Amino acid sequence: MIPQNSGRNLKELMVFTKNKSVPDPQLRVELAKKGVVWTSLDFLYNWGRRSSIWPMQFGLACCAFEMIAAACARYDIARFGAELFRASPRQADLMIISGTVTKKMAPQVVRLYNQMPEPKYVLTMGACAISGGPFIDGYNVLRGIDRYIPVDVHLPGCPPRPEALLYGLMQLQKKIASQEIQKAEWYQKGLKREFPIPEFGPNGLIPKFNPEVWQPPQKDARKTHYGSTILVGKKLKAPDLELALAAKPAAPGATV
Ligand code: SF4
Repeated sequence: MIPQNSGRNLKELMVFTKNKSVPDPQLRVELAKKGVVWTSLDFLYNWGRRSSIWPMQFGLACCAFEMIAAACARYDIARFGAELFRASPRQADLMIISGTVTKKMAPQVVRLYNQMPEPKYVLTMGACAISGGPFIDGYNVLRGIDRYIPVDVHLPGCPPRPEALLYGLMQLQKKIASQEIQKAEWYQKGLKREFPIPEFGPNGLIPKFNPEVWQPPQKDARKTHYGSTILVGKKLKAPDLELALAAKPAAPGATV
C-alpha cells in the first residue's frame, strides 16, 4: 500500500524525483518508515565529507582565539564533526584563515594551501583575512588572501564570534552537499589547484596578486562611497630630501 503524504503519494513523488541525483528528502522519509533506505552515491559521498571536515591547526591573529573558543566545550564544534584540527596540511581539508595576513606571512599561507590534498576548502575568518580589515592601508598587511588562493566562505566581523564561525561552517557544509562526484573539479583532468607562491620583496609581494584567482575591481567602492575627500589607493611620493636641501639656498653665515 502506498502511504499518503500531504496530498502527494509515493508514486507521484517517484515521478517527481526522476533523474535527480539526490532523492527527494520527503520520499526518503516515507521509504525509511517502511524500512527501506534509499540514497544516492552523491548524497553518501557528500554526507561523509561534510560531516567530517578536518580543519588545519593554525591561527594568524586575534580571530584565532575565537576559533579556539569555537572548538572548546561551550560552542563545541564537534557537533559538526569538525573538531579534529590537524597539525599537518597533508591531513586537512579545510583551511580557516583566522586573522591578519601580513605580506610576510602570505607566501607561507599559499604554500600550506598547495600542500593540502584535494578536495580542499578555504574559509576566511575576520575582516583582516578578507580585506585587510582595520589595517587595510597598512604597508605590511595583505588586502585579502583571495588575491592568491580561492576562498569558499568569507566570514566578516572583527572578530566574528564563535557562533559566526559555526554558521560559516554550516554554509560550507551546504556547498559540499551540493557537489556532484561526476562534476567535481578535483576528479577532472588538468586540474590546477597549486598556485604560485608570491615572494616577499623589498616593496611588498611579487606579484601583487594572482590574475588567475583575482582581478582588481574596475571601480573602487570606497572612492564611490567617500567621494574625493580621501586618497584611495594612492600614496604620495616621499620628497627627496637630498634634492630639497641642495635646492635650498644656504642661510648667511651657515657652515656646510
Ligand atoms: S578581524 Fe579584527 S579580530 Fe580578526 S584578526 Fe583582524 S583585527 Fe583581529
